[in-house]
This record gives sequence, structure tokens and C-alpha cells, in this order.
Amino acid sequence: MDTELLHQSLASEPAFRARQVAAWMARGAASYDEMTNLPAALRAKLAAEVPFSTLHVANEAHAKDGTVKALFTTLRDNRPVEAVLMRYRDGRRSICLSSQSGCPLTCTFCATGQMKFGRNLTASEILDQALHLRRIEELDHCVFMGMGEPMMNIDNVLAACEELPALGITHRRTAISTVGWIPGIERLTECDMPIRLALSLHAPEDALRTQIMPVNDRYPLADVLEACRRFHDVKKRMVFIEYVMLDGVNDRYEQAVALAQLLDPRIYKVNLIPFNPTGSVYEGSRPESIGVFKSVLEEHGLRATVRLTRGRDIDAACGQLAAKAAA
Ligand code: SAH
Repeated sequence: MDTELLHQSLASEPAFRARQVAAWMARGAASYDEMTNLPAALRAKLAAEVPFSTLHVANEAHAKDGTVKALFTTLRDNRPVEAVLMRYRDGRRSICLSSQSGCPLTCTFCATGQMKFGRNLTASEILDQALHLRRIEELDHCVFMGMGEPMMNIDNVLAACEELPALGITHRRTAISTVGWIPGIERLTECDMPIRLALSLHAPEDALRTQIMPVNDRYPLADVLEACRRFHDVKKRMVFIEYVMLDGVNDRYEQAVALAQLLDPRIYKVNLIPFNPTGSVYEGSRPESIGVFKSVLEEHGLRATVRLTRGRDIDAACGQLAAKAAA
């Protein structure tokens, strides 16, 4: 909920009231009525003055594999926002949050990149995505891999992260994914919370990377990797590399060799991501190509995994649902 509005509404109450509300929310309460240690009159006052969420649920899709994707609109100005809950067989419950409505960057394979940019989300709008999914069940992991570039809204993203441990999601199980927005990487390096860093790389050299991700012109590969190296030096945590596998574009044998030569195996682990088709010019790599690519990385001593594809039947890739709704 809008925490400022909450504090205004509780101004004449003892300070512990806001903490009581927060504790109920973090445990998945779905209304003020459930907050039984608050006086009934206060619950009624809050219900009248402070909307329970800054987001309205516009659509909720459930995939056969248990993935849930929520499409919200912001209460304030009706902007689309998406979040996803992924359930894994080992019991992990991971959520994927959006940091912006739309995205100002224009990665050519990404559905969000093709939408119009709206605005940065507030910390409350980011946290309310998590709280909505927490009402479905208990959570333990969080990634900022939804709509938007989290490093361009890093203050609000970090403010939301401060609250995630109360929901069961520790900082160590939280990852922020970036195109390589260097000021944000530096900010995360300085921040006290042990949050993980993931870098969307997608190409082993500048020319191809710029073609796939125009932001590479502003922050070229060598500078981005230098910022990631500093993050690793300071935080002593490995950096995840995200690499979307695009057929005939970035999945060739020589490109795997080039990637392996670029990345220090003491610093980086690679996640190869099967492309989720978005109606762009790209097609996903064939499974055999992904297998070969992975073996080449491993032969060079890099740890590499192929990301499980979840929620394909509900358009759960970045921006897909909101882009369709907008169309
Ligand atoms: N802007 C940040 C976070 C949002 S995107 C970033 O780029 O890292 C999160 C991840 O989803 C990125 O690695 C992005 O490359 C990937 N992604 C976007 N569209 C995709 C698609 N259609 N199929 C597979 N992965 C996709």
C-alpha cells in the first residue's frame, strides 16, 4: 500500500500500529479485516482512507506448470505492471518483479522494449506486486527480471528490497538483473544488503551487442564487465550472466568460445535462456545448439546452466502480457 498515506492516516495512533499493519501484510493478509490486533474502528478507518494496494489486478493467468502471472494497473494513473510467481518441483517459490511500467531501453528481442515507456514505479508499487503473490503462498526467492530496467530506478528498488525479508525473501535470495547500467551497478556495490547481481549480456562483442541492445553504445562491454568485477571484489559474490539464445544470431560455436574467453570463471556463472518468442524478427536457438554452447562454456571452466522455461502458455516472458493488453 501507499506507505506515506498509511502513515498520514495513522498519525494520531501509537507508532506500533504501522508495524502491526506491515507484519500482517508480510504474512499475506488480504484485507484490514484480518488484522485482529487492530481496533475495529481503526480497521474501518484504514479501509476507508488507505487503499489496500497501490495496484489493481487486471488479469491473473495460471499456467499448467503452476506459474502465475499477474497483470496489474497502477491505482494512481492506470499504468500496466506485471509480476510472475514461479513454482519449482524442489519447493522453491520465486517471484519476478517489475521496476518500471514499460522500459525506456529498446532491446530488440524484448516485448517490453517495444512498448512505450511509462514511468518508474514507486517502492510501494514494487512491494505490492510481491505482496499480491505472497497472498497466494509463501515465497523465498525474488528476481527483478520483469518489466523495466531496475538500475534506472535503483532507489525505489532498494527501498522495496528492504522489506522483502519480512515476506520470507532474504537479500541473498534476491537478484537484480540489469542491461549493464553502470551507475546502478555501482550503487548496488556500495549498498549494505547482500543482493545478487545479474547481467544481461547476450553477445560476446560490442558490435553484435549494440545491435541486440542499443544501450551498449552508452555502456560498452569492457566498462560494464569492469563494474561487475568491482561488484565481485567488494561483495565476494558471483555475478550471473543472462544470455538469451537467439537462433543464428548469438548461438554459434565461435561465439561460445569468445564468451568463454571474455568471462572469468571465478567471477561469473552463465544462465543460458531459451528465447520466448515475442513476435520479433528472432527465433529461439535449437535445443542442440544450446547444448553445444553450454558444453563449450564448461570446457573452458565456466559454470553454465540452461534456464527452465516456465509459463510459456501464458506469455510469461518480460512484457508479453502487458504488450498484448495494450494492443
Ligand atoms: N532490464 C533488465 C531486467 C528485465 S529483463 C535486464 O535486461 O536484465 C529480464 C531478463 O529477461 C533479461 O535477461 C532479458 O534479456 C530477458 N528477456 C527479455 N525478453 C525475453 C524473451 N522474450 N525471452 C527470453 N528472455 C527474455
